[in-house]
Amino acid sequence: MTTILRNYINGQWVESKGKDLLNVINPATGKSIIKVPAGSAIDIEEAAKAASEAWPAWRNTPATQRVQYLYSMKQILEKHTDEIAAICTKECGKTFAESKAEIVRAVENIEVACGIPTLMQSVFSEDIATGVDEFVIRQPLGVGACISPFNFPIMIPFWFMPYAIACGNTYIVKPSEKVPMTMTRIFELFESIGLPKGVLNMVHGGRDTVDAILKNPLIPAISFVGSTAVAKYVYQTGAANGKRVQAQGGAKNAVVVMPDADVETTVRIIADSAFGCAGQRCLAASVLVIVGDAAEKITPKLIKLAQSKKTGNGMTPDVDMGPVITMESMERIRKIIETGIEDGVKLLLDGREVKVTGFEDGFFIGPTILGNVSAESEVYQTEIFGPVLSVINVKTLDEAIELINKNRYGNSACIFTRSGAAARKFRHETLAGNIGVNIGVAAPMAFFPFSGWKESFFGDLHGQSSHAVEFYTQTKVVIERWNEEWTRKF
Ligand code: NAD
Repeated sequence: MTTILRNYINGQWVESKGKDLLNVINPATGKSIIKVPAGSAIDIEEAAKAASEAWPAWRNTPATQRVQYLYSMKQILEKHTDEIAAICTKECGKTFAESKAEIVRAVENIEVACGIPTLMQSVFSEDIATGVDEFVIRQPLGVGACISPFNFPIMIPFWFMPYAIACGNTYIVKPSEKVPMTMTRIFELFESIGLPKGVLNMVHGGRDTVDAILKNPLIPAISFVGSTAVAKYVYQTGAANGKRVQAQGGAKNAVVVMPDADVETTVRIIADSAFGCAGQRCLAASVLVIVGDAAEKITPKLIKLAQSKKTGNGMTPDVDMGPVITMESMERIRKIIETGIEDGVKLLLDGREVKVTGFEDGFFIGPTILGNVSAESEVYQTEIFGPVLSVINVKTLDEAIELINKNRYGNSACIFTRSGAAARKFRHETLAGNIGVNIGVAAPMAFFPFSGWKESFFGDLHGQSSHAVEFYTQTKVVIERWNEEWTRKF
């Protein structure tokens, strides 16, 4: 059995040239499952070279033929859903159902990217002057790369990769070193597709591997998803090296509840949003902003529902919520809760001491709800990225919007109300890239861009849909003159 994961470069499984190894830990057991290379610049150099050499033939392959490989990818992911989802749950901790749902979102992106022959079409103006036409061609850039985070090991590379290769680029995927097994298995399964060598490569590693991508002159386009500090670093360093970069960062997503909101639906959706994937979703509700007397109706019911959520190993069928990703993450979240308590936060539900029988070494935190949170507190300012919901009470919708707009993040914001006017005002004035109205996790479908504002995103074009197509193509403008007289002479 393989004990060290290998890279996939130029159609072959190869050992990393780096010496250092990292443990991949099952967060439910706290035990190491396998080792992953910490990475080396040589691995990236080899992958970039292979991808660059594969590019001329790949870009000259008609788009209609390139997307045939994507149809095969979709079939493979669907056929092997249970197997892939089980690996994801083992290394990432989320429930089996949540892992399967990720595959659905990945497949949706493949489906949209199958429309590249149409999506890459451009504009043509005839007779901009007599006998002169002007048009735009979209052409691929060369080698693209995706650097992904731990929380969606399957879905996130598919926000970029299918579009990039369907547009005629070749590609390198760098999975998170915390969850490298899932993408490794997907690449093993994709071998049967028969993609030309070098079109799709995977390189494992952490920080040094990212730096090698950022410096490599053969890689002109980079898609990053992860924490804000690293997103900013990747954006700045990539841009300084003349690259095109889109970098999605962290989040602090608020959900506003108006006094007229439907109580049962609102409570159920918010509990799913805050505690699904153990709060480790970039669109998870982490702040509940309750307007006026909605507090009396919402808060007690929410606490009751959160209490009923079962925390445990993600493969156990009746478990609602798995562990957080690492021991460090668990300790960091506990520390933020403790600091909050010292600052006057009221512990409405305490998940810190949850115990899971048979999984005593797992990184579990149960649903936690904090009340009396102020806008200035660390609890509100920090991305907690765990199953912790902070409750802030305000008097008006204006106050709620002002609170959200002052936060440094702008990934998503949701409102629960029966009022169209309140919903419209919220949609119009709130500074966030994804807005939900009576929706808990405002995750855009694959045929919409995955937006993000303020410190949740650095760049202009986002992942998914037409944005991904624009990001992974460059426009060439052509002006042509063809005189009829020239033709008649011959
Ligand atoms: P992370 O920033 O620690 O890691 C992301 C990637 O960057 C990994 O591949 C990692 O190897 C690499 N990396 C880590 N530190 C680095 C460094 N110092 N220099 C260079 N590269 C480095 O993020 P994570 O903990 O894996 O993921 C969670 C974060 O991702 C959260 O902040 C979450 O909000 C965010 N996220 C955002 C979105 C979005 O769409 N905006 C989606 C998912 C996750």
